[in-house]
Amino acid sequence: MAESLQAALAIPYRQFFYRMRTFEEELESIRAASLLRSLRTVETPQQPRSRVDGLDLLNFSSNDYLGLAASAPVMEALHEGIRRWGAGSGASRLVCGTQGPHTGLEEALAAFKKTEAALTFSSGYAAALGTLTALLDKEDTVIVDKLCHASLIDGARLSGALLRAFPHNNTERLKALLQSVRAKAPAKSRILVITESVFSMDGDRAPLREVATLAKDYGALLMVDEAHALGVLGPGGRGLAAELGVAPDIHMGTLSKAAGLHGGFIAGSQALIDLLINRARSFIYSTAPPPCIAAAAEYVVREILTGPEGEARRATLQQRIADFAAELGGITPQSAIVPVILGSEKAALAAGAELMSAGFLVPAIRYPTVARGAARLRITFSASHRGEDVRALAKAVHALAAARENQ
Ligand SMILES: *Cc1c(COP(=O)(O)O)cnc(C)c1O
Repeated sequence: MAESLQAALAIPYRQFFYRMRTFEEELESIRAASLLRSLRTVETPQQPRSRVDGLDLLNFSSNDYLGLAASAPVMEALHEGIRRWGAGSGASRLVCGTQGPHTGLEEALAAFKKTEAALTFSSGYAAALGTLTALLDKEDTVIVDKLCHASLIDGARLSGALLRAFPHNNTERLKALLQSVRAKAPAKSRILVITESVFSMDGDRAPLREVATLAKDYGALLMVDEAHALGVLGPGGRGLAAELGVAPDIHMGTLSKAAGLHGGFIAGSQALIDLLINRARSFIYSTAPPPCIAAAAEYVVREILTGPEGEARRATLQQRIADFAAELGGITPQSAIVPVILGSEKAALAAGAELMSAGFLVPAIRYPTVARGAARLRITFSASHRGEDVRALAKAVHALAAARENQ
Protein backbone atom coordinates (compact mmCIF):
# COMPACT_ATOMS: atom_id res chain seq x y z
CA MET A 1 0.00 0.00 0.00
CA ALA A 2 2.67 2.44 1.07
CA GLU A 3 4.64 1.47 -1.98
CA SER A 4 1.84 2.17 -4.47
CA LEU A 5 1.13 5.48 -2.78
CA GLN A 6 4.76 6.40 -3.18
CA ALA A 7 4.63 5.37 -6.84
CA ALA A 8 1.55 7.50 -7.43
CA LEU A 9 3.19 10.50 -5.78
CA ALA A 10 6.50 9.99 -7.54
CA ILE A 11 5.29 11.15 -10.95
CA PRO A 12 3.86 14.58 -10.08
CA TYR A 13 6.67 15.14 -7.58
CA ARG A 14 9.31 14.56 -10.25
CA GLN A 15 7.42 16.60 -12.81
CA PHE A 16 7.30 19.48 -10.39
CA PHE A 17 11.04 19.65 -9.94
CA TYR A 18 12.40 18.31 -13.22
CA ARG A 19 12.02 19.84 -16.60
CA MET A 20 13.86 18.50 -19.62
CA ARG A 21 15.96 21.00 -21.52
CA THR A 22 14.09 21.87 -24.71
CA PHE A 23 15.37 21.60 -28.25
CA GLU A 24 14.88 25.35 -28.63
CA GLU A 25 17.00 26.12 -25.55
CA GLU A 26 19.78 23.95 -26.84
CA LEU A 27 19.68 25.59 -30.26
CA GLU A 28 19.78 29.01 -28.61
CA SER A 29 22.97 28.19 -26.73
CA ILE A 30 24.57 26.90 -29.94
CA ARG A 31 23.58 30.12 -31.69
CA ALA A 32 24.87 32.28 -28.84
CA ALA A 33 28.32 30.67 -29.26
CA SER A 34 28.33 31.44 -33.02
CA LEU A 35 28.27 27.69 -33.60
CA LEU A 36 24.85 27.27 -35.18
CA ARG A 37 24.84 25.38 -38.47
CA SER A 38 22.15 25.26 -41.08
CA LEU A 39 21.85 23.66 -44.48
CA ARG A 40 22.26 25.55 -47.70
CA THR A 41 20.82 24.09 -50.87
CA VAL A 42 23.02 23.83 -53.92
CA GLU A 43 20.81 23.93 -56.99
CA THR A 44 23.44 22.77 -59.46
CA PRO A 45 25.51 19.60 -59.85
CA GLN A 46 28.86 19.49 -58.04
CA GLN A 47 30.86 21.95 -60.12
CA PRO A 48 32.77 25.22 -59.59
CA ARG A 49 29.92 27.41 -60.86
CA SER A 50 27.24 26.67 -58.31
CA ARG A 51 23.88 28.20 -57.60
CA VAL A 52 23.45 28.22 -53.83
CA ASP A 53 20.28 29.45 -52.15
CA GLY A 54 19.60 31.56 -55.22
CA LEU A 55 23.13 33.04 -55.50
CA ASP A 56 25.62 32.29 -58.28
CA LEU A 57 28.88 31.44 -56.54
CA LEU A 58 32.27 30.03 -57.38
CA ASN A 59 32.51 26.96 -55.21
CA PHE A 60 35.79 26.45 -53.33
CA SER A 61 34.46 24.10 -50.68
CA SER A 62 33.92 20.77 -52.43
CA ASN A 63 36.10 17.69 -51.98
CA ASP A 64 35.50 16.78 -55.62
CA TYR A 65 39.22 17.44 -56.22
CA LEU A 66 39.43 16.01 -59.72
CA GLY A 67 36.10 17.41 -60.90
CA LEU A 68 34.76 13.90 -61.51
CA ALA A 69 31.45 14.09 -59.61
CA ALA A 70 29.54 15.62 -62.49
CA SER A 71 31.91 14.57 -65.30
CA ALA A 72 30.71 12.89 -68.49
CA PRO A 73 32.72 9.64 -68.12
CA VAL A 74 31.63 9.05 -64.52
CA MET A 75 27.98 9.82 -65.25
CA GLU A 76 28.12 7.50 -68.25
CA ALA A 77 29.63 4.71 -66.11
CA LEU A 78 26.82 5.23 -63.61
CA HIS A 79 24.18 5.06 -66.37
CA GLU A 80 25.76 1.89 -67.66
CA GLY A 81 25.73 0.47 -64.12
CA ILE A 82 22.02 1.25 -63.80
CA ARG A 83 21.19 -0.34 -67.17
CA ARG A 84 23.09 -3.49 -66.25
CA TRP A 85 22.40 -3.76 -62.49
CA GLY A 86 19.39 -1.59 -61.66
CA ALA A 87 19.22 0.73 -58.68
CA GLY A 88 19.07 -0.80 -55.20
CA SER A 89 20.96 -3.80 -53.83
CA GLY A 90 18.05 -5.21 -51.84
CA ALA A 91 19.88 -6.67 -48.85
CA SER A 92 23.02 -6.56 -46.76
CA ARG A 93 26.22 -7.92 -48.23
CA LEU A 94 26.07 -11.18 -46.23
CA VAL A 95 22.46 -11.95 -47.18
CA CYS A 96 22.09 -11.51 -50.94
CA GLY A 97 23.39 -7.97 -51.47
CA THR A 98 26.86 -8.87 -52.78
CA GLN A 99 26.60 -8.44 -56.53
CA GLY A 100 29.21 -8.58 -59.27
CA PRO A 101 30.10 -4.87 -59.05
CA HIS A 102 30.81 -5.08 -55.31
CA THR A 103 33.43 -7.80 -55.73
CA GLY A 104 34.69 -6.16 -58.92
CA LEU A 105 35.22 -2.87 -57.08
CA GLU A 106 36.93 -4.60 -54.16
CA GLU A 107 39.34 -6.37 -56.51
CA ALA A 108 40.03 -3.06 -58.22
CA LEU A 109 40.69 -1.35 -54.87
CA ALA A 110 43.04 -4.13 -53.71
CA ALA A 111 44.99 -3.84 -56.98
CA PHE A 112 45.01 -0.03 -56.67
CA LYS A 113 46.34 -0.17 -53.11
CA LYS A 114 48.56 -3.19 -53.85
CA THR A 115 47.05 -5.16 -50.98
CA GLU A 116 45.66 -8.69 -50.85
CA ALA A 117 42.07 -7.60 -50.41
CA ALA A 118 39.65 -4.73 -49.85
CA LEU A 119 36.17 -4.24 -48.44
CA THR A 120 33.70 -1.48 -49.24
CA PHE A 121 31.32 0.19 -46.81
CA SER A 122 28.39 2.52 -47.42
CA SER A 123 30.57 5.48 -46.39
CA GLY A 124 34.00 6.32 -45.06
CA TYR A 125 32.37 7.06 -41.72
CA ALA A 126 30.85 3.57 -41.66
CA ALA A 127 34.23 2.09 -42.64
CA ALA A 128 35.98 3.76 -39.70
CA LEU A 129 33.28 2.88 -37.19
CA GLY A 130 32.95 -0.72 -38.34
CA THR A 131 36.67 -1.35 -38.57
CA LEU A 132 37.72 0.10 -35.24
CA THR A 133 34.93 -1.59 -33.31
CA ALA A 134 35.71 -4.88 -35.07
CA LEU A 135 39.43 -4.81 -34.35
CA LEU A 136 39.61 -3.32 -30.87
CA ASP A 137 38.20 -4.05 -27.47
CA LYS A 138 38.87 -2.85 -23.96
CA GLU A 139 42.25 -4.56 -23.53
CA ASP A 140 43.54 -2.71 -26.59
CA THR A 141 44.97 0.75 -27.10
CA VAL A 142 44.39 3.13 -29.96
CA ILE A 143 46.74 6.06 -30.47
CA VAL A 144 45.49 8.82 -32.76
CA ASP A 145 46.87 12.06 -34.09
CA LYS A 146 44.97 14.80 -32.31
CA LEU A 147 43.55 16.09 -35.61
CA CYS A 148 42.16 12.75 -36.78
CA HIS A 149 38.70 12.86 -38.35
CA ALA A 150 35.56 12.44 -36.24
CA SER A 151 34.83 9.04 -37.82
CA LEU A 152 38.12 7.68 -36.43
CA ILE A 153 37.59 9.20 -32.99
CA ASP A 154 34.01 7.92 -32.84
CA GLY A 155 35.07 4.42 -33.89
CA ALA A 156 37.89 4.41 -31.36
CA ARG A 157 35.55 5.54 -28.57
CA LEU A 158 32.86 3.04 -29.46
CA SER A 159 35.40 0.20 -29.47
CA GLY A 160 36.00 0.60 -25.75
CA ALA A 161 39.78 0.55 -26.25
CA LEU A 162 42.01 2.93 -24.31
CA LEU A 163 42.19 6.07 -26.48
CA ARG A 164 45.33 8.19 -26.43
CA ALA A 165 46.10 11.17 -28.67
CA PHE A 166 49.43 12.72 -29.63
CA PRO A 167 49.83 16.36 -30.64
CA HIS A 168 49.40 16.84 -34.37
CA ASN A 169 52.27 15.28 -36.37
CA ASN A 170 54.46 15.16 -33.25
CA THR A 171 56.47 11.95 -33.64
CA GLU A 172 58.44 12.56 -30.42
CA ARG A 173 55.23 12.46 -28.42
CA LEU A 174 53.97 9.49 -30.41
CA LYS A 175 57.17 7.66 -29.52
CA ALA A 176 56.77 8.45 -25.83
CA LEU A 177 53.17 7.24 -25.90
CA LEU A 178 54.13 4.02 -27.68
CA GLN A 179 56.86 3.43 -25.11
CA SER A 180 54.54 3.77 -22.13
CA VAL A 181 51.65 1.88 -23.72
CA ARG A 182 53.91 -0.98 -24.87
CA ALA A 183 55.34 -1.37 -21.36
CA LYS A 184 51.87 -1.94 -19.90
CA ALA A 185 50.17 -3.82 -22.74
CA PRO A 186 48.81 -7.24 -21.76
CA ALA A 187 49.76 -10.24 -23.92
CA LYS A 188 47.75 -10.52 -27.17
CA SER A 189 46.38 -7.01 -26.82
CA ARG A 190 46.56 -4.76 -29.86
CA ILE A 191 48.07 -1.32 -30.17
CA LEU A 192 46.82 0.62 -33.17
CA VAL A 193 48.28 3.90 -34.38
CA ILE A 194 45.99 5.99 -36.59
CA THR A 195 46.79 9.00 -38.70
CA GLU A 196 45.44 10.67 -41.79
CA SER A 197 47.85 11.12 -44.67
CA VAL A 198 46.48 14.52 -45.70
CA PHE A 199 44.60 16.20 -42.86
CA SER A 200 41.09 17.18 -43.76
CA MET A 201 40.91 20.64 -42.17
CA ASP A 202 44.58 21.68 -42.29
CA GLY A 203 45.63 20.24 -45.62
CA ASP A 204 49.06 19.31 -44.30
CA ARG A 205 50.68 15.88 -44.59
CA ALA A 206 51.61 13.38 -41.91
CA PRO A 207 55.26 12.34 -41.55
CA LEU A 208 54.15 8.88 -42.63
CA ARG A 209 57.58 7.27 -42.88
CA GLU A 210 58.47 8.23 -39.32
CA VAL A 211 55.05 7.21 -38.00
CA ALA A 212 55.28 3.85 -39.78
CA THR A 213 58.78 3.19 -38.43
CA LEU A 214 57.66 3.98 -34.88
CA ALA A 215 54.61 1.73 -35.17
CA LYS A 216 56.84 -1.07 -36.41
CA ASP A 217 59.49 -0.53 -33.72
CA TYR A 218 56.90 -0.82 -30.97
CA GLY A 219 54.97 -3.71 -32.48
CA ALA A 220 51.88 -1.60 -33.19
CA LEU A 221 49.53 -1.76 -36.16
CA LEU A 222 49.24 1.27 -38.42
CA MET A 223 46.04 2.58 -39.97
CA VAL A 224 46.20 5.46 -42.47
CA ASP A 225 43.11 7.35 -43.62
CA GLU A 226 43.78 8.64 -47.13
CA ALA A 227 40.39 10.29 -47.66
CA HIS A 228 41.97 13.49 -49.00
CA ALA A 229 44.95 11.94 -50.77
CA LEU A 230 43.24 9.26 -52.86
CA GLY A 231 43.20 10.35 -56.48
CA VAL A 232 45.25 13.44 -55.61
CA LEU A 233 48.69 12.29 -54.44
CA GLY A 234 51.07 9.48 -55.30
CA PRO A 235 51.63 7.44 -58.43
CA GLY A 236 48.30 6.91 -60.20
CA GLY A 237 46.61 8.82 -57.36
CA ARG A 238 47.28 5.90 -55.00
CA GLY A 239 47.85 8.22 -52.07
CA LEU A 240 50.67 9.48 -49.89
CA ALA A 241 51.61 6.05 -48.48
CA ALA A 242 52.27 4.83 -52.03
CA GLU A 243 54.25 7.99 -52.78
CA LEU A 244 56.48 7.43 -49.73
CA GLY A 245 56.72 3.65 -50.04
CA VAL A 246 54.91 3.11 -46.74
CA ALA A 247 52.67 0.03 -46.37
CA PRO A 248 50.13 0.53 -43.55
CA ASP A 249 48.42 -2.55 -42.10
CA ILE A 250 45.06 -0.88 -42.65
CA HIS A 251 44.41 1.49 -45.54
CA MET A 252 41.25 3.54 -45.31
CA GLY A 253 39.74 5.64 -48.04
CA THR A 254 36.57 7.03 -49.48
CA LEU A 255 35.16 7.10 -52.98
CA SER A 256 33.10 10.19 -52.17
CA LYS A 257 35.85 12.78 -52.57
CA ALA A 258 38.29 12.79 -55.51
CA ALA A 259 36.69 9.64 -56.96
CA GLY A 260 33.48 11.64 -57.41
CA LEU A 261 31.06 8.93 -56.26
CA HIS A 262 30.18 7.48 -52.88
CA GLY A 263 31.26 4.89 -50.33
CA GLY A 264 34.18 4.07 -48.05
CA PHE A 265 36.68 1.23 -48.07
CA ILE A 266 39.37 -0.59 -46.16
CA ALA A 267 42.27 -2.36 -47.89
CA GLY A 268 44.80 -4.73 -46.34
CA SER A 269 45.54 -8.40 -45.83
CA GLN A 270 43.02 -11.11 -46.65
CA ALA A 271 42.81 -12.01 -42.96
CA LEU A 272 41.99 -8.40 -42.05
CA ILE A 273 39.21 -8.27 -44.64
CA ASP A 274 37.81 -11.67 -43.61
CA LEU A 275 37.77 -10.54 -40.00
CA LEU A 276 35.90 -7.35 -40.95
CA ILE A 277 33.34 -9.35 -42.94
CA ASN A 278 32.68 -11.31 -39.74
CA ARG A 279 32.89 -8.53 -37.19
CA ALA A 280 32.28 -5.06 -38.63
CA ARG A 281 28.74 -4.21 -37.62
CA SER A 282 28.38 -1.21 -39.94
CA PHE A 283 29.17 -3.64 -42.78
CA ILE A 284 27.04 -6.56 -41.59
CA TYR A 285 23.91 -4.72 -40.52
CA SER A 286 23.54 -2.30 -43.40
CA THR A 287 22.19 -2.78 -46.89
CA ALA A 288 24.86 -3.14 -49.57
CA PRO A 289 25.58 0.05 -51.50
CA PRO A 290 23.74 0.31 -54.85
CA PRO A 291 25.50 -1.94 -57.38
CA CYS A 292 25.40 0.83 -60.01
CA ILE A 293 27.56 3.00 -57.77
CA ALA A 294 29.98 0.14 -57.19
CA ALA A 295 30.15 -0.48 -60.96
CA ALA A 296 30.90 3.18 -61.65
CA ALA A 297 33.46 3.26 -58.82
CA GLU A 298 35.24 0.24 -60.27
CA TYR A 299 35.46 2.11 -63.58
CA VAL A 300 36.86 5.22 -61.85
CA VAL A 301 39.47 3.22 -59.93
CA ARG A 302 40.56 1.00 -62.83
CA GLU A 303 40.28 3.38 -65.77
CA ILE A 304 40.29 6.99 -64.65
CA LEU A 305 42.45 7.46 -61.56
CA THR A 306 45.44 5.47 -62.82
CA GLY A 307 44.92 6.34 -66.50
CA PRO A 308 45.80 9.41 -68.61
CA GLU A 309 42.59 11.20 -67.65
CA GLY A 310 43.47 10.98 -63.94
CA GLU A 311 47.01 12.07 -64.71
CA ALA A 312 45.78 15.09 -66.67
CA ARG A 313 43.26 16.09 -64.00
CA ARG A 314 45.91 15.81 -61.27
CA ALA A 315 48.24 18.03 -63.30
CA THR A 316 45.50 20.66 -63.71
CA LEU A 317 44.70 20.50 -60.00
CA GLN A 318 48.38 21.03 -59.09
CA GLN A 319 48.49 23.96 -61.51
CA ARG A 320 45.44 25.57 -59.87
CA ILE A 321 46.97 25.15 -56.40
CA ALA A 322 50.19 26.72 -57.69
CA ASP A 323 48.24 29.56 -59.39
CA PHE A 324 46.54 30.35 -56.08
CA ALA A 325 49.76 30.21 -54.05
CA ALA A 326 51.57 32.42 -56.57
CA GLU A 327 48.80 35.02 -56.56
CA LEU A 328 48.37 35.08 -52.78
CA GLY A 329 52.04 34.67 -51.86
CA GLY A 330 53.53 33.42 -48.61
CA ILE A 331 52.01 29.94 -48.66
CA THR A 332 53.18 26.51 -49.84
CA PRO A 333 50.14 24.24 -49.90
CA GLN A 334 50.81 20.54 -49.28
CA SER A 335 47.52 19.39 -50.80
CA ALA A 336 44.32 20.66 -52.41
CA ILE A 337 43.18 21.98 -49.02
CA VAL A 338 44.27 25.44 -47.89
CA PRO A 339 43.07 26.71 -44.49
CA VAL A 340 42.87 30.39 -43.64
CA ILE A 341 42.87 30.32 -39.86
CA LEU A 342 40.97 33.22 -38.30
CA GLY A 343 40.65 32.16 -34.68
CA SER A 344 37.26 33.18 -33.38
CA GLU A 345 34.08 31.58 -34.62
CA LYS A 346 32.62 35.04 -35.23
CA ALA A 347 35.57 36.16 -37.37
CA ALA A 348 35.36 32.99 -39.48
CA LEU A 349 31.63 33.45 -40.02
CA ALA A 350 32.13 37.09 -41.00
CA ALA A 351 34.92 36.18 -43.43
CA GLY A 352 32.78 33.44 -45.01
CA ALA A 353 29.91 35.94 -45.42
CA GLU A 354 32.30 38.50 -46.89
CA LEU A 355 33.55 36.04 -49.48
CA MET A 356 30.01 34.98 -50.26
CA SER A 357 29.03 38.55 -51.03
CA ALA A 358 32.07 38.70 -53.32
CA GLY A 359 30.76 35.61 -55.16
CA PHE A 360 32.70 32.76 -53.53
CA LEU A 361 31.47 29.78 -51.54
CA VAL A 362 34.03 29.15 -48.78
CA PRO A 363 32.10 28.34 -45.63
CA ALA A 364 33.49 28.88 -42.13
CA ILE A 365 34.69 25.75 -40.35
CA ARG A 366 34.12 25.89 -36.61
CA TYR A 367 34.18 23.86 -33.41
CA PRO A 368 33.70 20.93 -33.02
CA THR A 369 35.07 20.24 -36.51
CA VAL A 370 38.20 22.14 -35.48
CA ALA A 371 39.39 23.16 -32.01
CA ARG A 372 37.78 26.10 -30.24
CA GLY A 373 39.47 29.33 -31.26
CA ALA A 374 40.88 27.73 -34.43
CA ALA A 375 37.92 28.58 -36.65
CA ARG A 376 38.86 29.06 -40.26
CA LEU A 377 37.97 29.23 -43.88
CA ARG A 378 38.79 25.98 -45.64
CA ILE A 379 39.55 26.48 -49.31
CA THR A 380 39.60 23.44 -51.56
CA PHE A 381 40.66 23.31 -55.17
CA SER A 382 39.43 21.20 -58.04
CA ALA A 383 40.77 20.31 -61.46
CA SER A 384 37.60 21.88 -62.83
CA HIS A 385 38.45 25.36 -61.53
CA ARG A 386 39.86 27.73 -64.12
CA GLY A 387 43.05 29.69 -63.61
CA GLU A 388 41.09 32.94 -63.48
CA ASP A 389 38.77 31.47 -60.81
CA VAL A 390 41.58 30.79 -58.37
CA ARG A 391 43.29 34.10 -59.07
CA ALA A 392 40.02 35.91 -58.34
CA LEU A 393 39.70 34.02 -55.06
CA ALA A 394 43.29 34.84 -54.12
CA LYS A 395 42.54 38.54 -54.64
CA ALA A 396 39.41 38.30 -52.49
CA VAL A 397 41.30 36.50 -49.69
CA HIS A 398 44.03 39.09 -49.91
CA ALA A 399 41.47 41.91 -49.57
CA LEU A 400 39.98 40.13 -46.56
CA ALA A 401 43.37 39.91 -44.86
CA ALA A 402 44.13 43.59 -45.61
CA ALA A 403 40.75 44.64 -44.18
CA ARG A 404 41.44 42.67 -40.98
CA GLU A 405 44.84 44.29 -40.56
CA ASN A 406 43.30 47.75 -40.85
CA GLN A 407 40.73 47.04 -38.17
C1 LIG B 1 35.30 12.59 -45.39
C2 LIG B 1 36.17 11.84 -44.47
C3 LIG B 1 35.80 10.59 -43.99
C4 LIG B 1 34.42 10.03 -44.19
O1 LIG B 1 34.22 9.61 -45.50
P1 LIG B 1 32.72 9.64 -46.08
O2 LIG B 1 32.79 8.74 -47.25
O3 LIG B 1 32.44 11.05 -46.44
O4 LIG B 1 31.82 9.12 -44.99
C5 LIG B 1 36.71 9.90 -43.24
N1 LIG B 1 37.93 10.41 -42.95
C6 LIG B 1 38.30 11.63 -43.38
C7 LIG B 1 39.64 12.14 -43.05
C8 LIG B 1 37.43 12.39 -44.14
O5 LIG B 1 37.78 13.60 -44.52
